[in-house]
Amino acid sequence: MPKLDWATNALNTLLANRCLFCGRNGDAVCRGCFQGLPWLEHCCQRCALPIGAKEGICGHCQKQTPPFQHCISLWSYEFPIDKVIQDFKYQYKSAAKQFLCQQLAKLVAQHNKHGNSNFDALLPVPSHPLKRLLRGYNQAHVLAREVSRYCSIPLIQAVKKSRWTGSQQGLGRKARLQNLRNSFQLSRPVAGMKLLLVDDVITTTSTASIISHMLMDAGAESVSLASLARTPQHMTT
Ligand SMILES: [Zn+2]
Ligand SMILES: [Zn+2]
Repeated sequence: MPKLDWATNALNTLLANRCLFCGRNGDAVCRGCFQGLPWLEHCCQRCALPIGAKEGICGHCQKQTPPFQHCISLWSYEFPIDKVIQDFKYQYKSAAKQFLCQQLAKLVAQHNKHGNSNFDALLPVPSHPLKRLLRGYNQAHVLAREVSRYCSIPLIQAVKKSRWTGSQQGLGRKARLQNLRNSFQLSRPVAGMKLLLVDDVITTTSTASIISHMLMDAGAESVSLASLARTPQHMTT
């Protein structure tokens, strides 16, 4: 084995035995850190927006019923899970990827079994080919692939992103929608299917809504969303 490979493997083994959050030796995530994560408990039953109440529908969903059936998310997008999601999203750190994929897969499996969802297929929120080329991967696709394997739900590529929309950060809701419109294209039939759309973080639901509309217009039976985290409202305005 070349020296460098040996050193990399040794380093990976060493890091694999440290908690992702506090760095203590032991499990990949220690019990204390795991329990202390910002688990999403009090959120809108429809779009998973943290609303501080155990049950209910947020103001946005009351004003306008979303085109997706509901959204399942693990965490509120805040410290310290935000940092680990960024490590996965921008640096593809393998310990972060492994932990996040595993947690989302478990949540979807639980939901699919007990929520009687019986998804026919899951699909990632697509990224533009140029973005994929620059980053080397689409993190939503990586998540969807792992969830698909774990839950034995087929993975399909039903939507393509055909127009570059640039970064959506810092844009208001209206500007985001305008920017996103016409940027996605349907690439296969989805009629009669119960679909699960997978993304890493759902900030506003504008992207998910546009894709859901497109899938429902193409005859899908239902579209639900799954994400690692949901951004609290005060961070999106
Ligand atoms: Zn820890
Ligand atoms: Zn809502």
